[in-house]
Amino acid sequence: MPLLEINSLTVDYPTRVGTVRAVDRVSISVEKGQTLGIVGESGCGKSTLGLAVIRLVPSPGIMTEGSIMIDGTDIMRLSNNEVRELRGKVGFIFQDPMTSLNPVKRIGDHFVEFIRTHEKEVSRQEALEKTGKILESLGILRERTTDYPHQFSGGMRQRVMIGLGLALNPKLLIADEPTTSLDVIVEAQILELMNKLKKDYDLTLILITHNIGIVAEMSDLIAVMYAGRVVEFGPTEQIFENPLHPYTKGLLESAPNILHPERSMHPIPGSPPDLISPPPGCKFHPRCPHAFEPCPLREPFLVMKERRFVACHLYD
Ligand code: SF4
Repeated sequence: MPLLEINSLTVDYPTRVGTVRAVDRVSISVEKGQTLGIVGESGCGKSTLGLAVIRLVPSPGIMTEGSIMIDGTDIMRLSNNEVRELRGKVGFIFQDPMTSLNPVKRIGDHFVEFIRTHEKEVSRQEALEKTGKILESLGILRERTTDYPHQFSGGMRQRVMIGLGLALNPKLLIADEPTTSLDVIVEAQILELMNKLKKDYDLTLILITHNIGIVAEMSDLIAVMYAGRVVEFGPTEQIFENPLHPYTKGLLESAPNILHPERSMHPIPGSPPDLISPPPGCKFHPRCPHAFEPCPLREPFLVMKERRFVACHLYD
């Protein structure tokens, strides 16, 4: 049984000028111990999908359709109290540590409050002891629990965010753009640390990023999202060796290739569509170099092709 199974999940944001369908009938599954990378340009729905997994879609977003099973539990059917408990089992690392940490609260107090909200029987002293152990596993001295967020570097603050994600011993950890604000050296350190923690804590990991290079190194599976839909989903190796969807090819060609530095980069022309009134048929057709007759007329659905799923009329 997969640890995470999402079936036909749809998330809408009603606005005064129309409904934004941020996540459109997404179905993916992840086995225990795997790492799934979710990639796509800004606004493709990847962060909303991550938040939906812990039922934290911000208002006015609504999950209008579909199901999300975590370790056999249908989280759409849980009461608010049960969802609060679930959020302990699913760690979430938010994008920007500077805005996620309270600047006037000591690092240790962030942990104590978080742990004791979910584990009421734990004393403050026990929570601090646990915090010290977590910080040490992240390469931070336990004495620093009394420091404030501004006394940490960007990389250290991100380690603290990872620590908060691990504080309740989750089975599943979701990291939303965990290295966006970091320079490349600190980014590499954080990614290495996450790989190590994944083994130490026996985690299943979902990595949400716009950087397809990061998922190449870290993921077993990739879901490529465009305009709210998953357009290609399958094993990382297969997708990197032989991308099928024109959008996946575009993402790979627009990123630097360390193995083939002689290859020039080709950015994808145009911009992602306005999701209030997306183009008809395949939403990628105005930007697609392979578009042909059916593309503006009919929406392609995911079909199995070469050991992965792809949604493109080239493979119908
Ligand atoms: Fe391109 Fe058509 Fe495939 Fe869409 S369905 S990606 S427009 S070829």
